[in-house]
Amino acid sequence: MSGPVERSMAFVKRVFREFYRDNVGVVSPPPRPEAREFGYWSFERGEMVRHLSFRSAEEVRAEIAKVVPLHAYRSAAYYQYPSAPMEEKGWQAADLIFDIDADHLDVPCVTQHVYRVCPVHGLLDDGAKTCPVCGTGAREVDWVCDICLSAARAETTRLVEILVGELGVNEGELEVGFSGNRGYHIVAYSPDHLTLDQMARKDLVGYLTCVGLSPGLLGLPWKRGGRGRPRLDLLPPPAFNEPGWRGRIIRRAYSILQSQAVPPGLERYAGIIREIRDAWSVEPDWTVAPLGFWTRLLDEAIRMEALRIDPVVTTDIHRLLRLSGTLNGKTGLLAKKIPLEMLEDFDPLNECVVLPREERVRVRVAYSPAFRLGGEEFDEISEPRSVMLPIYAGVYLVLKGLARIEA
Ligand SMILES: [Zn+2]
Ligand SMILES: [Zn+2]
Repeated sequence: MSGPVERSMAFVKRVFREFYRDNVGVVSPPPRPEAREFGYWSFERGEMVRHLSFRSAEEVRAEIAKVVPLHAYRSAAYYQYPSAPMEEKGWQAADLIFDIDADHLDVPCVTQHVYRVCPVHGLLDDGAKTCPVCGTGAREVDWVCDICLSAARAETTRLVEILVGELGVNEGELEVGFSGNRGYHIVAYSPDHLTLDQMARKDLVGYLTCVGLSPGLLGLPWKRGGRGRPRLDLLPPPAFNEPGWRGRIIRRAYSILQSQAVPPGLERYAGIIREIRDAWSVEPDWTVAPLGFWTRLLDEAIRMEALRIDPVVTTDIHRLLRLSGTLNGKTGLLAKKIPLEMLEDFDPLNECVVLPREERVRVRVAYSPAFRLGGEEFDEISEPRSVMLPIYAGVYLVLKGLARIEA
């Protein structure tokens, strides 16, 4: 006898199977698929199948359509023997990859997106470990909303600008994609970066996240550290069009000055901020404010400029990342490649909905916040009840752990 969870997952697998049967062409293996390791999570076995290799993109697609995985992955690396055990694979190179996740962006709503539910009795109190009615262990559900996804998209745009503007990656060598759940992936295929080793990638992450940045060494006014107090009139004067970090920090500092009457932490300078702003609108100049002011302002500018990428993903040269054009088993949304010129307006909660919209399925929903998906608005379901939903929305709630398919 299979339980409600198995029945629900069997339904989802059937939906995935039909999707791949009719749309396998959207599965988008990376360049040189024959040099890659592939892996997947199956619906049935709670473990990762790894070290698979295929001779062509066509073979990859055929395997996906046959296996119908819950999640599918490919290596960032290129190997001589991709299916060999890790130490015998013969690492040759690896795409430079980045992961930007809504969880890591300090967006205030993220902390409100964790729900605890009992699959039968619905929403539980914050912090509850078990359901008070039936004693079932609470299931924690991570939700994601428009606001956090927009923040992730904005961060992705910023990273793309820096990769192209400062690190010499050509736009044509970049692949940007929605992960299918809560973030974006950026892959750089530029030959200059493919052979970087782990240490070099770590340095790159430091550059992007401002770890170890010494403002004093960039000729910025900074009174911390052992270099003594710099004389403001002897520092290289600031200019908005400077390249790299220095220019970025100067521009951000000016935008903070412009956007806030008195930026936080600078209250004691409230009396002169207006003069500083006016002076900088004519010509930026360090000497118009004391060193303490610049140190605080630049500290905030650096904090805002630091990119929120996942450092582990970028430095791991053996990393598996989600295969583009496959369904994400946490949502049923497509992990979709996004042409760069479409990124600014990209709406994943609409454009990545690829499962059936017309057909409906009856699901028992334990709890659901109000949400928007596939161009439809769904009301909050505060008490457990049975509803008819479009298949894509039913699958979304099932995979989030908030609903079960009703027989
Ligand atoms: Zn319960
Ligand atoms: Zn949110």
